[in-house]
Amino acid sequence: MNTTFDKVALLKIAFKGLDEDELRQMSELTRIATYPPEYILCHEGAYEEVFYIVAEGQAEITKQINENELRLLRVAGKGDLIGEMALIQNAPRSATVRAITDLTVLEMNKQDFGTMLTQSPRMAIDIIRTTLNRLRENDQMTISDLQKTNQVLRQLDRNKLEFIQVAAHELRTPLTVLKGYINLLRTTPELKDKSSLTEMMDGIAKGADRMHEVVNMMLDVSRIDSETMKVLPAPIPLNMMLIELVNSLAKETAERKIQVSVEQEAGIVSIHADPSLIQKALYQLLVNAIKYTPDGGKVKINVQNTTLENDIPAIDIRFEDSGVGIDSEHHELIFEKFYQVGDVALHSSGKTAFKSGGPGLGLAIVRGIAKAHGGYVWVESKGHDEVNFSGSKFHFVIPK
Ligand code: ADP
Repeated sequence: MNTTFDKVALLKIAFKGLDEDELRQMSELTRIATYPPEYILCHEGAYEEVFYIVAEGQAEITKQINENELRLLRVAGKGDLIGEMALIQNAPRSATVRAITDLTVLEMNKQDFGTMLTQSPRMAIDIIRTTLNRLRENDQMTISDLQKTNQVLRQLDRNKLEFIQVAAHELRTPLTVLKGYINLLRTTPELKDKSSLTEMMDGIAKGADRMHEVVNMMLDVSRIDSETMKVLPAPIPLNMMLIELVNSLAKETAERKIQVSVEQEAGIVSIHADPSLIQKALYQLLVNAIKYTPDGGKVKINVQNTTLENDIPAIDIRFEDSGVGIDSEHHELIFEKFYQVGDVALHSSGKTAFKSGGPGLGLAIVRGIAKAHGGYVWVESKGHDEVNFSGSKFHFVIPK
């Protein structure tokens, strides 16, 4: 092993800005050491006190990303600095350094390293520059990793979307056939007078209708995601639409003794938006308000004038319920498709039964519709509370 090499010549490679005097002074504070392959110079997470400059050979610098993944940050060779970051920061080692060949290094103790840094601003600047470059490289590596992961996630999301689309289409055809036969059976004279059979037919028809609704939601959400949802604006008599909506669920709300009221600020006659999309969004918000409100509760629909950014005149349709409420950490996530709060297995079934879970698509569709109109939807709620039922208030805001 060569231990008589020129320390000053090596330090010159590592610290380009230093003059001969500084280099000599520095070399006096270093000692030469050699290590065999596999020897670990720095242990990630440990407080260690030595700073190294590679003289001969190579060392790999790795970081444990998680339990199963070890990332190679770089391979250090002649003139590279190792272990200075932890000493500057007074922090544990942020990576592990392992010799991969026979390795000769110059070593300096923490205290001498500190003295050199205070005595030689040029050395300090050189070290800062090297360290910053390295941090930047690490950032770049992390960013490109995130970009790759993002790409994979996007592809997975697209696959999921395609599957939903295909499944919904495949389910729709047999459902239509089923509903056709149900209608045919209903008009069959032999069945007309048998009340027990009529009841069964109603049950089957209700199930088929609900399935149809879910299948349509699956198609809606895939349209929103693939941004193929078309907005065809027309004047909408909003008050009438809301009253019709409430009436369409009158049987369900009566069964659950939920009072639904509609109030509208004076002077609002009609809005300009896509009637079938707006109806879909308002329907979802109303169904949810009913679904998450206990029997005997209240749902208030309130329509107000408001403005969007750049003073665009808009309409704020609020659905306020006396239901279970939503904790703040879910306020954003509930608008993601398939997101449901709580344990799905505990949900009861049905469209408007208390806490009956749906497919977790309703609010994703509502948000898609609001966005397609240049509007927003959000929720205000003090939190989930099944004792006091402080409820939730959903705002659906779109330009007029
Ligand atoms: P789901 O089909 O589960 O109803 P949504 O997308 O319509 O799906 O809603 C997502 C989640 O948001 C629901 O699972 C529910 O936990 C919560 N949520 C929606 N509306 C309300 C509401 N009015 N009150 C309380 N929680 C609600």
